[in-house]
Amino acid sequence: MINFNVPPCVGTELDYIKDAIDHRKICGDGDYTKKCNAWFEEKTGAEKALLTTSCTHATEMAALLCNIKPGDEVIMPSFTFVSTADAFVLRGATVVFVDIRPDTMNIDETKIEEAITDKTVAIVPVHYAGVSCEMDTIMDIAKRHNLKVVEDAAQGVMSTYKGQALGTIGDYGAYSFHETKNYSMGEGGALLIKNPEDIEMAEIIREKGTNRAKFFRGQIDKYTWVEAGSSYLPSELNAAYLYAQLQQADKIFDDRMNSWNEYYKAFSELAAEGKIELPTVPEECSHNAHMFYIKAKDLEERTQLISYAREHDVQLVFHYIPLHSAPAGKKYGRFHGEDIYTTKESERLARLPLYYGLTKEDRNRVIEVIRDFYANR
Ligand SMILES: *Cc1c(COP(=O)(O)O)cnc(C)c1O
Repeated sequence: MINFNVPPCVGTELDYIKDAIDHRKICGDGDYTKKCNAWFEEKTGAEKALLTTSCTHATEMAALLCNIKPGDEVIMPSFTFVSTADAFVLRGATVVFVDIRPDTMNIDETKIEEAITDKTVAIVPVHYAGVSCEMDTIMDIAKRHNLKVVEDAAQGVMSTYKGQALGTIGDYGAYSFHETKNYSMGEGGALLIKNPEDIEMAEIIREKGTNRAKFFRGQIDKYTWVEAGSSYLPSELNAAYLYAQLQQADKIFDDRMNSWNEYYKAFSELAAEGKIELPTVPEECSHNAHMFYIKAKDLEERTQLISYAREHDVQLVFHYIPLHSAPAGKKYGRFHGEDIYTTKESERLARLPLYYGLTKEDRNRVIEVIRDFYANR
């Protein structure tokens, strides 16, 4: 079976993990965590990057930093992973879903403004497949209505919008290093912070509500409990795994991009014949080859395609069940406006196997199976 994902491993991970163990430094915020934070600050230009235990937790930190209170409203797409909503729902917010654009599957920036009420506190754009949302428009709306912007850039590490790294455009950005993402530490994430005045509170929230970070920098004599917080820092063992991958970030990037481009070329004929649709990357966006998907005609055709592929040892997967149609989505959210594309487009989408180290042979097999499926349609 050719799986849709194989977790990335570049080969040096074990050396770094062993090094952390040899130095008897395995809890959080040791050298490897610091090196990862510095790498992201350097690479993205973010004022501050803090490694976290997951992207879900980085988003929770952002919700705390936005000071979300019960009754507040947060605007996001319904076509996203549950974590995007969970982080705000945990703080008592109501999630207001708006429709997506069919070309990028990202939030439709032209529908955001009409969903704003006097309770709205934040907009949460999700950069699906590592392709940026229309950030100039979103930032302009946020500025005019005095709203926070939290970028769910879980899939957007190493992607840019008009040359700016995703995750650094809004007030906060959340990255994921789950094993299904381009760069991994098993489970993990990072919070990117734009405004220097937010850094101290972010460090406090991440360290159980204490000013421990300040203490370690020698800025205070004793650390104490100063705010409500949690424990969002990952173990050094995980950070060591990630650091090995960051050092070879370009190699991973190029490998994935090559597969993405090969898929795109191979399916352009089927797309030209109108049998399938391919992903769109707007001109101002450079993406990171996080995902390659095709769109079938409808749900029925996609179901047949996925089972045909499975019978031929190729794993295609679909996602997401729109959040507003899920039990928790109904309980904690509402859909503003009409669901023109969210449900319809999500039902057409199938993800192809794409991971670091996908062989040419396997990739060609995926292409062949999908072409065969469409041969007599
Ligand atoms: C993967 C993902 C998350 C969650 O990431 P974790 O690190 O597993 O918490 C959140 N949002 C999106 C869009 C994702 O793809």
